[in-house]
Amino acid sequence: MVIGKADVSWTGSTLIVARTTELAEQLLADGELRCPLCNTGRLAAWGYGRQRIVRDRDGTTVTVQPRRTRCRSCSSTHIVMPAALQPRHADTTAVIGTALVHKANGLGHRRIATVIDRPVSTVRRWLRRLSPAHLERIYQDGARQLLALDPRRKPTVGLRSARRWT
Ligand SMILES: [Zn+2]
Repeated sequence: MVIGKADVSWTGSTLIVARTTELAEQLLADGELRCPLCNTGRLAAWGYGRQRIVRDRDGTTVTVQPRRTRCRSCSSTHIVMPAALQPRHADTTAVIGTALVHKANGLGHRRIATVIDRPVSTVRRWLRRLSPAHLERIYQDGARQLLALDPRRKPTVGLRSARRWT
């Protein structure tokens, strides 16, 4: 879903994913975020969600507290999550994405867990949620964006089912 001049997608019952926190705040301030429930009301800032600590790459942590919003029309509340975070995950999108890149390169969950320094069970859970079709779509989207940036460049990460590039 595109709201205003930026991509904001509705992903569930009360969660809105914005590219960045700063962008979400700007859209809120400008009154450009619309309610995903009633599709007509404008969202207003309504405090914050629960504060939590999220693990990032290289052993660092990030303390985050996502913005809560309230629809001026239907009074429903929503959480705005930056794309750098994943709902109900203790690791950033970058960490989980790195695991997926390793998976796309053919590593198994035990090896990936060692490389990114996360529990084997955590990595296995991430990978189990990802169907081969989803992994293929992520790969194709990434390759398309890379080629749009530089048409001469070939993706260096390949899926087993999509390795041929000419
Ligand atoms: Zn509403």
